[in-house]
Amino acid sequence: MLVTISRYSFPYEAQLARALLESEGIPAFIADEHTINMQWLYSDALGGVRLQVPEPYVQAAQKVLAEDREQALVEQQDIDIRHCPRCGSANTEYHQIGRRWAFLVFLGINFPLFPVRDGILCRDCGRVSKS
Ligand SMILES: [Zn+2]
Repeated sequence: MLVTISRYSFPYEAQLARALLESEGIPAFIADEHTINMQWLYSDALGGVRLQVPEPYVQAAQKVLAEDREQALVEQQDIDIRHCPRCGSANTEYHQIGRRWAFLVFLGINFPLFPVRDGILCRDCGRVSKS
């Protein structure tokens, strides 16, 4: 029996989470993805894209997803203290998806909507530098 462990507004988010779980050896399935690709504006009406795992894997899957969120927070804090290499300002903004997600994307997940942004944006001089 499949259990829904998470819901996502966009199919690519569910795809990333599924890839993450599968990289940890947890089988995962996406429900409603086809419907939402066809009519993605209605995804909220349908309750989003559901990520499901077999019942025996529920706890392990939730743990993996929770750890990933913590990892993302750590990366965010790391980046916040970056200084702009052009003007030295610390008034910078994170412009890169998490390393782990980037790696999964690199593995070849196919979706067109992923907002790939790379590097650090300086709010003072506007420079985007590679992190
Ligand atoms: Zn700058």
